[in-house]
Parts: sequence; C-alpha cells; structure tokens
Amino acid sequence: MTLPRHTIAILGGGPGGYEAALVAAQLGADVTVVDSDGLGGACVLTDCVPSKTLIETSNAMTLLNRSAGLGIATGGLATVNAARLYERITNLAQAQSADISARLAAEGIKVIKAKGALAGPGAVQAGDAEIKADAILIATGAMPRVLPGAPPDGERILTWRQLYDLTELPRDLIVIGSGVTGAEFASGYQALGSRVTLVSSRDRVLPHEDEDAANHIEDVFRRRGMTVLGRSRAQHVARDRDGVTVTLDDGRTLTGSHCLLTVGMIPRTEGCGLDAAGVKTDERGFIQVDRVSRTSVPGVYAAGDCTGVQMLASVAAMQGRIAMWHTLGEAVHPIRLDHVAATIFTDPEIATVGVTQRAVSAAEISARVGKLPLDTNPRAKMAGFTDGFVKLMSSPGTGVILGGVVVAPRASELILAVSMAVEQRLTVEQLAQTFAVYPSLSGSITEAARKLMEFPPDTP
Ligand SMILES: Cc1cc2nc3c(=O)[nH]c(=O)nc-3n(C[C@H](O)[C@H](O)[C@H](O)COP(=O)(O)OP(=O)(O)OC[C@H]3O[C@@H](n4cnc5c(N)ncnc54)[C@H](O)[C@@H]3O)c2cc1C
Repeated sequence: MTLPRHTIAILGGGPGGYEAALVAAQLGADVTVVDSDGLGGACVLTDCVPSKTLIETSNAMTLLNRSAGLGIATGGLATVNAARLYERITNLAQAQSADISARLAAEGIKVIKAKGALAGPGAVQAGDAEIKADAILIATGAMPRVLPGAPPDGERILTWRQLYDLTELPRDLIVIGSGVTGAEFASGYQALGSRVTLVSSRDRVLPHEDEDAANHIEDVFRRRGMTVLGRSRAQHVARDRDGVTVTLDDGRTLTGSHCLLTVGMIPRTEGCGLDAAGVKTDERGFIQVDRVSRTSVPGVYAAGDCTGVQMLASVAAMQGRIAMWHTLGEAVHPIRLDHVAATIFTDPEIATVGVTQRAVSAAEISARVGKLPLDTNPRAKMAGFTDGFVKLMSSPGTGVILGGVVVAPRASELILAVSMAVEQRLTVEQLAQTFAVYPSLSGSITEAARKLMEFPPDTP
C-alpha cells in the first residue's frame, strides 16, 4: 500500500518559499508554490541580488580609481555606463530567477503564477484555482516603507526597487535613512561617481550595528567626500523637472538630482486572508511565528520578511526549511538567531556573527574583546588599503569564541572562520593554533585570537 503524499501549498516564491519547496519535495511531498511576481522573489528580482550586483561594479570602480597607487597607468578616472550597468543588473536577476524556476521544475514542484490567499482551513486560493493542502506556508515578503511627505515617482523620488529603471547615474543623490540599505547604496553610488548626501535621523549611521564598525564606516564615508547629516529627519521631498528638494524637520533644505528612500520595510500580507483565517500579527502587521515557524493557526506556517524576524535571505530560507521539516515530521532544531552571520556590503564590508559589543558593554554578557586594526596586515598593505579591523569576543572563563566583527574588503567571506568558531564552540587557543595563509587578511583573525590569549585567566 502506498501512503498518500503530504500536500504543501506555499504562498510566495522568494527564499522563504522556494527553499522550503525544495526541502518538502526532497522529503516526498506534493508541493505547489503560488507566486505573483517571479521566482526568487524580491530577494532575487529587486532587493538583494540587484543591490549586490551594483555593489560589485562599485567595488571594481574603487579598485580602478586607486589603480594609480598600485603602479598602474590608466587614462584617468573610470566612469560608469549607467544604461549598461542597469541592463547587466536586470539581466543577472532574471537569469537567477530562471535558474530557480528550472530547479523547482526539475524537482517536480508545481508553480502557479498568481496572487494567492488563505481560503478556509487547509485551502489556498490562487487566481481561479483552489489548492487543498495538509500544510500551508506564507512567505510573501515585505515592501519598502515610504514617507507620507515623499511619495516615490520612480523618476527622481525613488525606492531602491525603482533604481534600475533609471537611464543615468544620479548626479547628486540624497539617501534618506542610514540603516543597512541606506548605507550600502550611499557607499555604492559614491564609488560609482555620484555626489552623495546621507540623511540619518540618529546620531550616527548604522545605529543598530557594532558601534566601532559604524563609526569606522562613517569616517570612511566622510573622508571620501560624502556628506553625512546626523540627527536629521526628512519630512518632505518635492521634485521639479531637474531635481529634488528635501525639507528636514528643523526647516533646513537640501537639493539634489535624485532622492532614494531607505526607511524600512512593511509586511506584504494585504489580501492574504490572514484576519479571516485567524493568523495573528504584531502591532506592525508582521506575522507572529514561533521558532519552528508556526503561526497561531494549526497547519499554517510563515517564513521570511513577512514575519519580520530578521530580514535576511538566509534567515528566510532557514525559517522556510524548518517549517517543512517540522510539518513533515523530521527532527528539527528551532531557529537560532544568535548565530546568524550577516554582512553590510559597504566598502569596506562589515560582517558580524554572535554576541554583540553592545551586549558586552551593557554587561548583559561577560566577554573579553580583542580588536586588531587591518593597517598592519601585510596583505592589506599589498592591496593598498588601510581601513578595517577584526574584533573577537570570547568567554572569560572558557576562552570559547562568542562572536566577532570583521570590517574589511570581502569581510562577507572572511567571517566564515569566526562563524564556524562560534557555531562549533571553538576556543581562542584552537583558532590561534589554526594555520592561516601568509600573507592573508584571514591572518588577522588568527592574530586577534592570539591577542585574546594574552589576557590573564580570570580568578574566581
Ligand atoms: C536592498 C536590499 C538588499 C538586501 N541584501 C541582502 C543581502 O545581501 N543578504 C541577505 O541575506 N539579505 C538581503 N536582503 C534581505 C532579503 O532580500 C530578504 O530578507 C528576502 O528577500 C526575504 O525573502 P522572502 O522569501 O521572505 O521574501 P521575498 O524575497 O520578498 O519574496 C516574496 C515573494 O512572494 C510573492 N508574493 C507576495 N505576495 C504574494 C501573494 N499574495 N501571493 C503570491 N505571491 C506573493 C512576491 O511576489 C515575492 O516573489 C536585502 C534586502 C534589501 C531591501
């Protein structure tokens, strides 16, 4: 006798949705993904992938424009072909989405292109079709928040999703919001050749990130000529034919050619039938989930940005996979957010994992902190950069590595060593005794570990 296959319906084909679909199919379930805008989701089509592709070009520009210092003679400053740049970004995003579609098709996953909604217990409406499912996953993502006084027009007042429709590089870009997205675009566009003003409502850029790293990057921004306005809240943005005027709440005005709004995200759950189904949301509208992605309704799970848990593609994907492992009866570990490795793709990049300096400084966690600037690293000297540092935090009693921050070019790659140490509960001795290549930036990670070994052991 063959047992009936579990049926799974997934609303949303971003990382939360498609990674879940792959796991469910691997476990033998009959899976349908309902997606309205294209597989890969906003992650692939408008947010993560396009922004990181733009930043690859801006990193190449930075390198080209300091090539004289490396002994290369060029014909002057490199400039950007904006149309070509945006075309490359859009094509790459579409190709990535097509790869995901092919992968889902190869795994036998059904895909319906439609807007979907919950439609009673165990049912999803997808356009004209109704799908019955043993379990449902909602992974519909989030949308850019906009300011009431600054409606985006897609030409001069923009959300990041509208940048790639431009035909020119913004000559004079005002970025409103200095969180991760604002800092990344400010850094990228400045390197591409735009004049950039970054408007932050807080004391400093990246207010939620490691303070040393945030101060370091703000210093880099200013040295490279960016105008950074702290404690400045944008109230209104008006446009005329050639530009924009931003009015701050203290009455000051700024003028530029374009304004980019990076003031957060709101959940994209309107029309999903959450209220009728009894799916609980928080006061901002994000779906409430537990650590195995269950919502308040049995059989209905949620993953990714629509839950507001931690808005990263890696977290969305893990929440989605956990939901499937849970519903399909596999052994499952509840999600652990204290081990998530994350990167801010500024130049230099800021990568973090594990406990934060803030928690250590607030005495919430007892840790030793060792920090090493990169400017003494031989590889950094060879490559011609001086900005950056490595910071490690370890348990005073056991020497176990609890967390770290790497500020460096490609810190997103370097953080893996620290991430592995945190995950595997390695000690500073174990990391310090690990071979690093000479010369290499990762040599600074093992050196920072050696530095932490210098502390005298704690006495009880
Ligand atoms: C500028 C920017 C850069 C970023 N860079 C990074 C990065 O470098 N690294 C990282 O880890 N994260 C990054 N992120 C975050 C990452 O993009 C998100 O965390 C990720 O997209 C969340 O995935 P998701 O599956 O929850 O939602 P999404 O990727 O938003 O996908 C949701 C999908 O659901 C569909 N949908 C919505 N409503 C319905 C409906 N009713 N019916 C059917 N389908 C529906 C949408 O069309 C979409 O395809 C970035 C975000 C931004 C804004």
